[in-house]
Amino acid sequence: MNAPESVARPVSAPSLERSRLAQRLRRVLRGQVRFDAFSRGRYATDASIYQVEPVGVVVPADEEDVLATIDLARETGTAILPRGAGTSQCGQTVGQALVIDTSPKLNGIVALDRDAARVEVQPGVVLDHLNAFLKPHGLWFPVDVSTSAQATLGGMAGNNSCGSRSIAYGNMVHNVVGIDAVLADGTQEFFGPFGADASRPMGSARTARLVSSLFELGARERDEIARMWPTVMRRVGGYNLDVFHPRSERPYTADGSVNLAHLLVGSEGTLAWFRRLHLKLAPLPGHKVLGVVNFPSFHQAMASAQHIVRLGPVAVELVDRTMIELARANPVFRPVIETALIGQPDAILLVEFAGDEHAALVRRLARLDELMADLGLPGSVVSMSAEAPQKALWEVRKAGLNIMMSLRGDGKPVSFIEDCAVPLEHLAEYTARLTEVFARHGTRGTWYAHASVGTLHVRPILDMRRGDASRMRAIAEEAAALVRQYKGAFSGEHGDGLVRTEWVGWQFGPRLVRAFEELKDLFDPDGLMNPGKIVRGTRMDDERLFRFPPGYRARPLATALDWSAWNVHTDPQTEHSTAPGTGEDPAGGFAKAVEMCNNNGHCRKFDAGTMCPSWRVTRDEQHGVRGRANTLRLALSGQLGPDALVAPAMRDTMSLCVGCKGCRRECPTGVDMARMKIEFLHHWRARHGLGLRERLVARLPRHARLLARLDWLIGLRNRVPLLARAGERLLGIAAGRSLPRWQWRGFLESADAAAAPRRAGRPGLPPVILWADSFSDRFEPDNLRAARRVLEAAGYSVSVARPAAADPDRRALCCGRTLLGAGLVDEAREEARRVIAALLPAVDGGAVVVGLEPSCLLTMRDEFLALGLGDTARRLAGSALLFEEFLVREQRAGRLELPLQPIGATRALVHGHCHQKAFEAFTPVMQVLSWIPGLQARAIESSCCGMAGAFGYEAEHFGLSMAMGEASLLPAVREAPADTLVVADGTSCRHQILDGAGRRAEHVAVVLARAIAPASSGTP
Ligand SMILES: Cc1cc2nc3c(=O)[nH]c(=O)nc-3n(C[C@H](O)[C@H](O)[C@H](O)COP(=O)(O)OP(=O)(O)OC[C@H]3O[C@@H](n4cnc5c(N)ncnc54)[C@H](O)[C@@H]3O)c2cc1C
Ligand code: SF4
Ligand code: SF4
Repeated sequence: MNAPESVARPVSAPSLERSRLAQRLRRVLRGQVRFDAFSRGRYATDASIYQVEPVGVVVPADEEDVLATIDLARETGTAILPRGAGTSQCGQTVGQALVIDTSPKLNGIVALDRDAARVEVQPGVVLDHLNAFLKPHGLWFPVDVSTSAQATLGGMAGNNSCGSRSIAYGNMVHNVVGIDAVLADGTQEFFGPFGADASRPMGSARTARLVSSLFELGARERDEIARMWPTVMRRVGGYNLDVFHPRSERPYTADGSVNLAHLLVGSEGTLAWFRRLHLKLAPLPGHKVLGVVNFPSFHQAMASAQHIVRLGPVAVELVDRTMIELARANPVFRPVIETALIGQPDAILLVEFAGDEHAALVRRLARLDELMADLGLPGSVVSMSAEAPQKALWEVRKAGLNIMMSLRGDGKPVSFIEDCAVPLEHLAEYTARLTEVFARHGTRGTWYAHASVGTLHVRPILDMRRGDASRMRAIAEEAAALVRQYKGAFSGEHGDGLVRTEWVGWQFGPRLVRAFEELKDLFDPDGLMNPGKIVRGTRMDDERLFRFPPGYRARPLATALDWSAWNVHTDPQTEHSTAPGTGEDPAGGFAKAVEMCNNNGHCRKFDAGTMCPSWRVTRDEQHGVRGRANTLRLALSGQLGPDALVAPAMRDTMSLCVGCKGCRRECPTGVDMARMKIEFLHHWRARHGLGLRERLVARLPRHARLLARLDWLIGLRNRVPLLARAGERLLGIAAGRSLPRWQWRGFLESADAAAAPRRAGRPGLPPVILWADSFSDRFEPDNLRAARRVLEAAGYSVSVARPAAADPDRRALCCGRTLLGAGLVDEAREEARRVIAALLPAVDGGAVVVGLEPSCLLTMRDEFLALGLGDTARRLAGSALLFEEFLVREQRAGRLELPLQPIGATRALVHGHCHQKAFEAFTPVMQVLSWIPGLQARAIESSCCGMAGAFGYEAEHFGLSMAMGEASLLPAVREAPADTLVVADGTSCRHQILDGAGRRAEHVAVVLARAIAPASSGTP
């Protein structure tokens, strides 16, 4: 095809004009107006390969704000760009325009008509939130996109999104029944069901004219639509001009009549702003069953799809071998995927049946089994009829793309032909031939997703910064030829945006492109709505619009932490990576670690898990993992000017990251913002020094003895509000927060803490070194006593960690957590060296280091490895376990003898420390509690408690800290009956629970110590 000429890279509006616009907006809006470079940078990308700096960002407080913004934009000739979660893959939400982010505030569910199964929503409502609201009513909105936890209804309508179950429910266009829209000239109109002609009265002369022109256009192009339009259901490119002449294999309306809302669906913000959406709901199916078909070859899976759909499933989804292997390598997904596999399949198809009668569904599973036997694959189906395993497996499938994106190095799977749709009978041949195309171009792709509707996702691995734009175009052209041959659609799910607008002409022909342009001009004659998308676009390979254009390079940076594991090259065909440190990142791998964020937005989540507490309470792009990663990337590559890494705006961006490590585990590409914050703080401190409060907190363990002597003063401060307020003014410690009390005599100073074991261990058991962290030692020494008692009762010889004999510094050992929290990496490294010197000889001799405080002990398993301490740190990390982890390990090894008796309590409510969750170390807490006879333990579905070390004590963060606690933890604790035990292993978590819910929580060691049968009890 002939590519259009490149247009000049959009340049930002001159700064004076911009600042005038910003001022005017600030005068009239109640919401936020953000025109600074950092904010604009955060909104310059979505989940595509593009990056264009917007003019500015508006976060409207209400609908009036949006109307005022549209008015001002029109008056000043500024383009506008509506945005939801910004998870578009084609560049729909990037552009040189004023971005209107509706996701934080315009997220109301306006009206539900249960009988008619209709709901009216604002555009910023997230799909999962809507479905959670609808569930008690037995209804749901069935366009179940993979990004359901992030995607907004406005964005879904903008993109004509499609879910896994589209074979049963259709796309957005089949499920939106009306849109209250605002045009660029301020005209407001309801677009909805229409007769066969333009007879319905409209709200204004402007919209009456618009509608009659639209009908004329539709009538005029009828023959061309019939000639050029792909008939597959999964066609989302171009404008839905086929509302006037239905072409989709699934009609938009039951009777074929026109609904003008359907013309707006899929318009990618280019025609109007959607103020309200009226949606059609479906009854929640009473039951679902899942058959997982295991295929020895990918080709067989593809060839079988056309037969399987005849059984009437609601979904048939593909997971290929690469994806299976990637899921297996992920600790969260491994146990789930393994339940679905028979041997080593090359691909699996997830076949779901839904309905109200369970027995009938089970019969359909049996028919699937028979069908597969007829197709030569007897015994290839894993049947799942219980809800929990099905749900878990769907989560793995939904995370498919994200799992794939976890590839390190500069080459990344790129989305540009990832949703071509072909008729099912051609699927096997199409995928085989496209795989050959990839191989010819020296790359490969991983296939997954919607086999039921012929839309398979695939992303070849390309490195745009090393000139792969031409390969992208060449592959796109060959893929397009195949799609044409099989009479498919080039854009079957993700829309046009920047990557595919130029292909609209290829798909629909020049005449319909002109019709699309006319349609655009009828709605938006001045071209103000998201220009350059669907019509009049740029080339897909216009390198000036790339996030990583050729020659993109980070600035040199001497990092404090070791990031070499990210500093690699990965071969696009074999996916093998070079050795750590060989990736030519001038920032030592830090930049590449940051670049792992592909903007998919998974961190904008509210459901189970930890990530990201600051996003959960602020809903602010700046305070999510993605916002932080983008800001760091722009700073590290010099795009925010010199010294941006240590600018106050960068500090603000990082300030609400509580270092919970939720992202380390839950971000599908493993963006570890907690570690990045330490790196950032190191550079910040180097430039700006350390404040008094930070200095005090960082060296708290060092001053523990002195503080213990001053505990009376702390007690006084806790009782006398005047003193608390003075403390807030002087030190910035929140007056509303109680301070923990220091014990005059800590555990390490007591007789219980004799370094040497008090008793010999049972033969065959490893010696235990009890790690007495500074906080357990001084705040709650009884926890350490309890742990020692349990371990000794189980027959272990327990010594207490003490400095090495040769250590010139006789202070207690310290993991350095508080130093790392202040960015004092060099000091933390020295502490780590002391710890290693003290413990490694015994560890090398087979001893295990056992600790109570998750954030301390796990520092040895995490940050110690990034301090450049080599193999010594790795050896220690391999033998450092939390108390409950150790017990579970020993039990599994058949070595644990710990008779336990009832403790009186029958219920326990358990809060997991974020770091426990990040290291898969929370399950052992629940396991250990389950050993106590008569005790039922339940985990609270909570994110971070909000205390997060010093964060919750800081005056400026106190409110936010409490809000984090209130998100789920504190209400759950308050609701618990008085006789329920509250268990939390983190010192800070226990403090937050006490402050926020007035309940005393206990460490699991204390609970277990109470359950020790008297006969097995060790020294008290
Ligand atoms: C990992 C991953 C998986 C995905 N899986 C799927 C999938 O299964 N199915 C699928 O269809 N897509 C999928 N997508 C693409 C994307 O998530 C969906 O299209 C999603 O519906 C977009 O929602 P959003 O809120 O992020 O919209 P945004 O990206 O913010 O916006 C989408 C478009 O809608 C426009 N828009 C937003 N709000 C309004 C408004 N109020 N008025 C007018 N226009 C508006 C925007 O201008 C833009 O053009 C996936 C993306 C990723 C990264
Ligand atoms: S930080 Fe992780 S979860 Fe968030 S957008 Fe980036 S890659 Fe996705
Ligand atoms: S460490 Fe926690 S608070 Fe910080 S970005 Fe990651 S999830 Fe968010």
